[in-house]
Parts: sequence; structure tokens; C-alpha cells
Amino acid sequence: MADASPHIPGRLALRLLQPHPLGLERLRGIGPKTAARMRERGILDQLHLLLHMPRKYRPTYRFWPGHELIERRASFVEVIGQISHVLPPARHSRAPLEVRLQVDDAEFKLIWFNLAFPGFVKKFQPGDWMRVEGKLDHERDPAQMVHPTFDILKSRETRAPQTEVVPIYSSMEEVRDSLIHPAIAESFSLLHADLEEGAPLNLLRQHELPTLADALKTIHVLTPYDDLDCFREALTTARNRLIFQEFFDLQLALTRRYVAQRRAANAPRLTERELGRELLKKIPFDLTGDQKSAIATIADDLANRIPMRRLLQGDVGSGKTVVALLAAAIAIANGHQVALLAPTEILARQHSRNAHALFTALNIPHALLVGAQPSAERRDILHQLASGELGLVVGTHALVQDDVAFKNLALVIVDEQHKFGVDQRDALLAKGQDPHLLAMTATPIPRSLAHAVFGDLDLTLIREKPPGRKPVRTELRDRSRAPKIYDYVKKRITETGEQAYFVYPLVEASDALANRRSVTEEAERLANGPLKGLRLGVLHGRMDGPAKDAVMQRFSNGDIDVLCATTVVEVGVDVPNATVMVIENPEVFGLSQLHQLRGRVGRGSVDSMCILITGFSLTEDAELRLQAFTTTDDGFKLAETDLAIRGPGLFLGVKQAGLPEFRFGDVLRDAHWLQAARHDARRILLGDASR
Ligand code: ADP
Ligand code: MG
Repeated sequence: MADASPHIPGRLALRLLQPHPLGLERLRGIGPKTAARMRERGILDQLHLLLHMPRKYRPTYRFWPGHELIERRASFVEVIGQISHVLPPARHSRAPLEVRLQVDDAEFKLIWFNLAFPGFVKKFQPGDWMRVEGKLDHERDPAQMVHPTFDILKSRETRAPQTEVVPIYSSMEEVRDSLIHPAIAESFSLLHADLEEGAPLNLLRQHELPTLADALKTIHVLTPYDDLDCFREALTTARNRLIFQEFFDLQLALTRRYVAQRRAANAPRLTERELGRELLKKIPFDLTGDQKSAIATIADDLANRIPMRRLLQGDVGSGKTVVALLAAAIAIANGHQVALLAPTEILARQHSRNAHALFTALNIPHALLVGAQPSAERRDILHQLASGELGLVVGTHALVQDDVAFKNLALVIVDEQHKFGVDQRDALLAKGQDPHLLAMTATPIPRSLAHAVFGDLDLTLIREKPPGRKPVRTELRDRSRAPKIYDYVKKRITETGEQAYFVYPLVEASDALANRRSVTEEAERLANGPLKGLRLGVLHGRMDGPAKDAVMQRFSNGDIDVLCATTVVEVGVDVPNATVMVIENPEVFGLSQLHQLRGRVGRGSVDSMCILITGFSLTEDAELRLQAFTTTDDGFKLAETDLAIRGPGLFLGVKQAGLPEFRFGDVLRDAHWLQAARHDARRILLGDASR
């Protein structure tokens, strides 16, 4: 769970072996005022202070030869040199005082404004030696320093060149780095010997990572580094140490949950598979290899006392539903009940229809439970669920409500699981006695992120698509081409009897979002103009359940040619005769969402098309997304691109309550550390990392 305040250090908490007084006020130079400001920024005590990371590092080059400083474009320097000229400004002029300093083989210009009074100017005599420290501006020729700190030396001095790395914090208003540096150094010297190592030392050795204390020492540059490359290398390793710890803590917690689920386990052993085999015979196609192995894995899980916790990931159209229905049939064959939870009413109704087609033939009693249902019907269903009469119930959030009780719920199936929070999932699971869980998602989550978020689930993948599927040709078109596109769609539908989706971001026109199109307005316009003569239907989230269902049903039966819709058709909807999708304002959608939308077509063996109509100029991000989208059909690749462009928070959406907020690690950049942490946690707690 993410922390309430983004400033409070994330999952990584430092712990001590010995109690210490940790108050910030105990540090030299930190008074109550400064301490209060630090606390406002989430730095509550000395341990938090140690986890306050420098924003950047500033190398300071001391006593390097002049030409080297120029070659390296060194910014912060300390040099010893000899004054070659002094150029005082003319009397009453506002020009600065300029002193030329010869540093070995290079000449620097030192500048002072408004200090050209005789006493000051006289300090500088040609031939004298100076020590100067300041910021070197390479944009000037010769390179110059304005108002450097300096000493006039009695004679020439030589010192060995060295490089100092200065950490820059300065992220706290009004708390100067000059206060933070000593405060961190003091905290470290008080606490470092008692810092508890958060990971076994043999793991650290194996990953060639330093101890936490050593990592912090490097990060805050508490020992000097002469060599910058050396420092950079040490810094990378030190940061990796924190990243690893953060992921490792998370993975330990997730694995503990996984172990606890398995230990407490008293799941029903569903060993009878006959009904599943019967069902298989009724399915009008052969399963793909991935579908077969998914169902075999699931059947094995279901036969076990340890409750299944499996996430079935498969690209849109890969055929997850039939796998779910087979799993349901197995549970029901064993005399138990199954709940199938879907995120939208449209999808619940579609699953219910699919189940109906297959299960009626097998005499499996089943029902649909959604929000908008006559109360008598609802009462009836609840009654039959409680008595155990119903084998399968398909439904929306309505399933999670308190008054829904089962006689013997043995399997919970959550479709499009990323649309739900962990709480909803757990609430449904709580309605049975250690029921099995099959979660499904068509937003293929990159493995690294899946592990970060769903580390307590086992993963199964369906990569293969059913045979005969052709990639959906995707084109990006400017709004000016819209009339041609409408003509094309109309002609195609009239000639072939295929169907189309038109997708819009808004339900109704909105002044605030004037450049986004709305389904209500556009459906009207198309019906009276470009698509006149075709049968149009409208579908959006503000319609009530039965109305949505009626439209969907008519589209599904082929009684509607063109379905104008909002993203309510995003998930799950399956009408194989629909072969064209036109998306208006595609730039407002995320990549994964676009991929979901496009997944509504290309479900048959006919060539399908997806046309994106954009107006106005696109942002660079949108351009990137849309270009990526037109070039690949691979949901996994798109998901990774989407994740990279938008970051995990937006990618998964707000519903994903389980997404941890990482302070040090990045699930993409540091995917291998996440993997290593999962591997290690599983090996330690399960004695086996392969699961
Ligand atoms: P998703 O994985 O996106 O939920 P669905 O389960 O809705 O996909 O399946 C998409 C379509 O593919 C459905 O029409 C389904 O009947 C069909 N389908 C599933 N498996 C196969 C298969 N092995 N061969 C042919 N068609 C299949
Ligand atoms: Mg689906």
C-alpha cells in the first residue's frame, strides 16, 4: 500500500539493533525550528534523515592543472595561480574589476562588481600568488569566475590535485545544505554501527552489494573520493543496495502472504473432472496449446488442498473465457459453487450468455447478478445461491455485497482483474471456505510489474492466439480525411455485412473538453449524414443495464451495423463479425486502453481494421504512443511501452490499490533486481524459487 504522504520514506525502513535517542534536535546545529521544517518534509528522526537522498552530486576539482579544468569543463574548482594583469575600471565607470590569473598553462578571468574601490583593488599585484575557489564559467573566453573566494599567498604553493564530491540536497526549502551535511554525518556516526542489515549477508555477497551502512556512507559521501569514476561506480552499487532492499522487503511480505494462504489451507479438493470433459466436447473449436496447458495447470491447482491463487494473463482475444468456464465446470462437477466477477455489466451479461449456451446443455444451473435487477429476481437468486441450487453465478460488483451468501463457494473467478482492488477480490473470497482464485487479465502486465504487484499470485500466460487470426491493420489519420473514412466504412459494411465500432471519449459534448468528440452528438451526425442508411446503435456508461444489454444483444445478433460507443466496449466485448473500429480522439487514451479497444475487432478470420482519427496537434507523448500503437499488435510489447511512457501508477489506474509506491526502485529500470528479490524471498521462505 502506498504511503499517505509522498515525502515519508517508502517501504524501506531502517531499523536499529540498539535503541538510540533519535530526535533531530539532538544533532548539533539543528534547533527546534529547523527540526520542525524537516518533520514537515517527512524527516521525522535521524533514521529518516539517513534516507534523505541527495538530489545530485557536485564534483569539485581542487588544484588540478588549468588546461585539465578546461578540458573537463569543470564547474566547481579550487586553484592556485599567479596574477598576470589587474584591470581596474576607469574612475566612475560601472565596469567590474578584472584580474587575470595564470593557472599553470591556462589563463582565467576573475571578476568583481562594485568592489573597485582603491583598497580592494590594491590587494591584487601582478606576480603575486593566489588561492581561488568558485564556479568556473566556460561560456566566457577566457573562462571566468565571478566573486570567487580567495587568499593572497605569500609565495607559490603546490598541492596535489584532488576531486571532492559534494552531495546536494537542497530539496527542503529553508533548510540549507550547510545544515544537512553535518547533521547527516553526525547521525551516521552515531547510528551506523547499529544499523540492522535488512538482507542476509550471503545474499549481499552473492549480488556483490555493500552493507546498508556502507551504501549510505557512499550515498552521502561521508568518505572522500579522489576519483570520479570510482565514485560513480560505488554510487551505483550503493543505490542498488537500497533498491534491492526495497524490493526484497516487498517480496518477503508478499511471499509470507502466499505461504500463509497455503498453510491455513483447507480448500475443497476438486478432483472430479468429467463435467469439464463433457463441456470440452460442446465447445465448437479446438483449444490452443496455451489454453490446454492453462486448463491443465488450473485443474491440478483445483485438486489441491492449498487454495489456488493464479493470475491468467493473455492478450485480448486469446480466449481466456473458455478456460474460465472449463475451470467452473470442474468445480461444479464436484458439487461446489463458482462466482465469476466482471467489471462491467456488459461484460457480465456477455459471460452469462456464453455460460448459458454451454451450461444449459450440461444442465448446470446458473444465474446473472447485477446492480440493476428487479428485487424479486434478485431475492430469488440470492436464495438459490444460499441453498446451493445455483452452480454458477456471473455478476458485477453486486456479487461482493454483504447479503450475497453461498452454500459452498469453491472457486472465485475475477475477469479483468486489474479493474478491481484487492479488497473486492478478498471480500468475494471471504464468502467461501478457502476458495480457489482464478484472476484473469487482458492488460498484459509486464512480468516485472506483475511480480511487484501480484507477487502472491502464480502466473500463467496465454501467448498464442486462436488459429486463423489476422493482425488488425491500424492507421493513423488526420481529421481532414474523415469523410473518406466514413465512405470506406459504409461501403465495406454494405457490401460484406460486417459490422463496425465507432469509439468516442465523451458521452455528451462538453464545453470544458471542446476538442473531444461525444458519442451522442456524433451518432446523430453520422446517422443523418455520412452513415445514413446504416443501422446505428449507441452505447455508453450512463445507460441503465437492461438498455445496454439490449443494444449489445442487437449488435451481437447483427441487427445493428455500427455501434457508436464510449470505452464501455473496452473490456471483453466479443462480436466476431465486427471488423472495423474507428477511434476518435485516440490521443486521450492510454496505450493499453487502445489495445483493449482494438481487441474488439480481429476476432474472426476476416481482415480487420482500426482507424485512429486525430485532430489538432498531438503532444510528443501522444505521438509516441500512437506511433507505437500502429506498428505493433503485441499486447505485451505495448504494455511495456505504455508503462515506460506513463509510469506504473497511470498504467495500472487508480483501482490498482495494491500498487506499492517505490522510493528507490523502478520496476522497469530495475526489473532484474525485482526478479532477484522475488527469487531470493521465495527461496528463503519456500525453499524453492521456481514457483
Ligand atoms: P479474451 O481472452 O480476450 O477474454 P475471449 O475469451 O473473449 O478472449 O475469446 C475471444 C474469441 O475467441 C471468442 O469468440 C472465443 O469464442 C474465441 N476462441 C477462444 N478460443 C478459441 C480457439 N481455441 N479457437 C477458436 N476460437 C477461439
Ligand atoms: Mg475476456
